[in-house]
Amino acid sequence: MQVPAGAIRSAVRQSTSAFSRWASCQHHQQHRLHARATASVTPANKAFMPIQSTRWYSSHAHKADEAIKNARNIGIIAHIDAGKTTTTERMLHYAGFTRRIGDVDSGDTIMDYMKQERERGITITSAAITFGWKDHRINLIDTPGHVDFTIEVERSIRVLDGAVTILDAVAGVEAQTETVWQQAARHGIPRIAFVNKMDRAGAGFGRTVREMRTRLGCRPVVVQIPLMESLQGSNDTQFNGVVDVLTMEVLRWDSNSKGANMIRSPLDSNYADQEVYQEAVKARIALVEQLSALDENIIELFLTLEDHMAIEAKDLQAAIRRLTLSSTIVPVLCGASFRNIGVQPLMDSVVDYLPSPEERPAALGRMSDGKAVEIGNGGPKERLCALAFKVVHDARRGPMVFVRVYAGQLNERAQLWNSSTHTKERANKLLQMYAMDVEEIPHITKGNIGVVLGLKDTRTGDTLLDGHDPRKGLALSGIKVPSPVFFASIEPMSSSDEKPVEEAIKALIREDPSLGMRVDEETGQTLLGGMGELHLEVAKERLVSDFKVKAEMGRMRISFKETMRGAGVVSEVPAWEYDREILGKRGRARVGVTVERLERFDDQEDERVPESDSSSSKAEVDKKGKKGQADAAIHMGPEEYDGNEIIVSLSEQSPSTDEAGTLAAAEKAAATGTVIPSGSTDLPIPVLRTSIKNGILSALSRGPLLGYAQTHLKVSLTDLHLYGGESTPAAISSCVAAAVTEAIRLGGNPSTGDTDSNSVLLEPIMDVRVEVAEKDVGTVIGDISGTRRGRVLSLGQDDDSAAQQEEDETEFQLYAPPDSTYTGPGSASSSSSSSADAVGTMSDRRSIRAQVPLSSMLGYDAALRALTGGTGKFAMEVIGYGEMDFDRQRDLIKEMRGG
Ligand code: GDP
Ligand code: MG
Repeated sequence: MQVPAGAIRSAVRQSTSAFSRWASCQHHQQHRLHARATASVTPANKAFMPIQSTRWYSSHAHKADEAIKNARNIGIIAHIDAGKTTTTERMLHYAGFTRRIGDVDSGDTIMDYMKQERERGITITSAAITFGWKDHRINLIDTPGHVDFTIEVERSIRVLDGAVTILDAVAGVEAQTETVWQQAARHGIPRIAFVNKMDRAGAGFGRTVREMRTRLGCRPVVVQIPLMESLQGSNDTQFNGVVDVLTMEVLRWDSNSKGANMIRSPLDSNYADQEVYQEAVKARIALVEQLSALDENIIELFLTLEDHMAIEAKDLQAAIRRLTLSSTIVPVLCGASFRNIGVQPLMDSVVDYLPSPEERPAALGRMSDGKAVEIGNGGPKERLCALAFKVVHDARRGPMVFVRVYAGQLNERAQLWNSSTHTKERANKLLQMYAMDVEEIPHITKGNIGVVLGLKDTRTGDTLLDGHDPRKGLALSGIKVPSPVFFASIEPMSSSDEKPVEEAIKALIREDPSLGMRVDEETGQTLLGGMGELHLEVAKERLVSDFKVKAEMGRMRISFKETMRGAGVVSEVPAWEYDREILGKRGRARVGVTVERLERFDDQEDERVPESDSSSSKAEVDKKGKKGQADAAIHMGPEEYDGNEIIVSLSEQSPSTDEAGTLAAAEKAAATGTVIPSGSTDLPIPVLRTSIKNGILSALSRGPLLGYAQTHLKVSLTDLHLYGGESTPAAISSCVAAAVTEAIRLGGNPSTGDTDSNSVLLEPIMDVRVEVAEKDVGTVIGDISGTRRGRVLSLGQDDDSAAQQEEDETEFQLYAPPDSTYTGPGSASSSSSSSADAVGTMSDRRSIRAQVPLSSMLGYDAALRALTGGTGKFAMEVIGYGEMDFDRQRDLIKEMRGG
């Protein structure tokens, strides 16, 4: 990777006062955006208007707690082209919201998505759409899928209670399916699966189920099998419906009604096609066996009835629900959305198998003193607590903030307190988004999702509280925003464009917090950070076309980080004196700090091997649904900033001059790791704490090597001495910053002359999944571990599956029906050519998992195509920062400092 020396050199010289972390979100002013060309929500085309005159929301006067039981906040996660859009359009149609089924454009590249956004106003509807199904209210939250837009997925998953995974029956589990699956698993979200495109040549339901077992590491439980029927006068079969294994019925769809009419008919020993009946019986037996191994109620019923066929559908359904909620199993359905087959049972399953907001572990929040609290189980009196998970700029309405309410109720015109930015807000209007329309609503109740208009400073990930809530600092654990790994300069065309460009970038960041901005103090250049080339490309595109600013973008470069060298190294500066005169005023303070190098991902790579559905152990099953709670607790470590931990534990006790009192208190403090300020001050503890934290963050914002932000460090305050009025907040911050900078420079190794070697450069590391034909495995692995400096973590399915099977042989017997041999170009085959077919026969595909530095993944698309004759596919996401080896670091430093 080539990095122009000048830009980085100037970054090195950046002033410390410029608090230049990649997070410009600190200061948000109100942005008025006149020029945004987003389409409005209300469609011009009346054909899209909802059929019902009253919305589900207003026509059902449920009591609040009744309503919450009947709410489902779900998302659809899938590999691109699996049929997410097609399936969603069908759902909306069958729910009665669209009169005709929406068109699906083939090929759903992210560019299409952006274009669609503008042309069809999907920006708004796509974030969360509400529709009713069988007396339930379903909030469907969109999760677009492209690695560069991973924050889009992350922030949606954060507010989901359950997910539908759509798989392409021909392609099976794909690289990106694995990526989004793991993302959902990390958040402990219950999932159901829909194997789509069963009408296509080469569709393999059974094969896909087996891949879910081996590649996703879950327990797929088949609740439907495909109804494949012979075509008259040919050996070929056609996909005509599904068999419901619970009710033992055949489901068919009437094509005249575009699939709106579903016909159920019983499946018993008199059924004409005995093959179908026999397989259904096998599936039923397998289902009962699988459930009895995991659910006490089913084993009891089975021991009583002694007949797999005699257990009632409702009992099976209840067990499947329990086991799905605890992420123990994943029910698998099948269909062909494009042919209008299988969609209604999928919607039923959302209601039947996915959790209501109440059935999820309580959300976790943190008070300003760092104490974790559970949100949402305090009964009806609990105060409002909501999370903003998406901000969209609408030309007419201004910023639309999508929120999920975790406790209490958000009322129209309410005074709100944004505890993340510490600003007052007012909710002017509340909206519910429908398929192609919106409705104004008086309140958003607990467990629900809606849009707030009128918020000025609220960003993605912010917590909103009641304006009168005394818990001013209470914040929900935010949305994990990845730090940008690429950056490029944005050059306004003239000096009069500078201000508009900056404003526009800030507005963009408010929508998409995975973008970042900083101004290079030296050159005055504005640097825009993002997750990938496409991400920055699209951002620039939007600046020019949506915000109408005149700017050009410079070359894209990778963003590095710095840290102290050596895991576990502790560097201490016990007493740092600061005494300086600024504008004739003396500023003084004395502090002690320690800086410790944390063991992070790069120190323990081996342990980060796919932690597939971690809920799969027997112990978890018994806890029934409590599992996610433990997960969430793990995410709530000490205060985290960009991979650093900060510990400022100050005693509330005021400095004392009484010798004996101080001694006693000091003893107690030492035991708890708390610092009692000595000397004298009038500043209250919270002000001291903030000044200290600011000082630490300032020091962490640039490292000694090349001025990149520091990461993987734990900084603790160990001592604080104050000199009355001379110890101003500014003096305290400066003192702390200098002490921390010195500690990092020494790196616990004061004797080395070469301080450069006390620090190490970190580079972004990607989690890469490559899918190739067997014959190409050797070449591809050679390339990854050779030229690209990557490490291969796992190879193909064989080892994985063996390990898996051994682990739970006793408790889970996989069942997957045989796949139809149908391969011909029968009438059912769709126009979409199968890219998967080109990979060769499905069974000889192999999946390679590796960790590779981002810098050597540039241009991998073309390289992989060349290596595999165009058949290889890959997906990747940033997983963290890893240490650079010494030689590369030396070369890079030399190059950037312009030696
Ligand atoms: P998305 O990227 O997941 O949103 O996928 P789309 O819904 O855009 O579908 C991608 C392509 O697959 C489109 O050309 C659809 O027409 C096609 N498709 C979707 N569902 C089916 C199906 O059930 N059968 C067939 N044959 N094609 C389908
Ligand atoms: Mg789509």
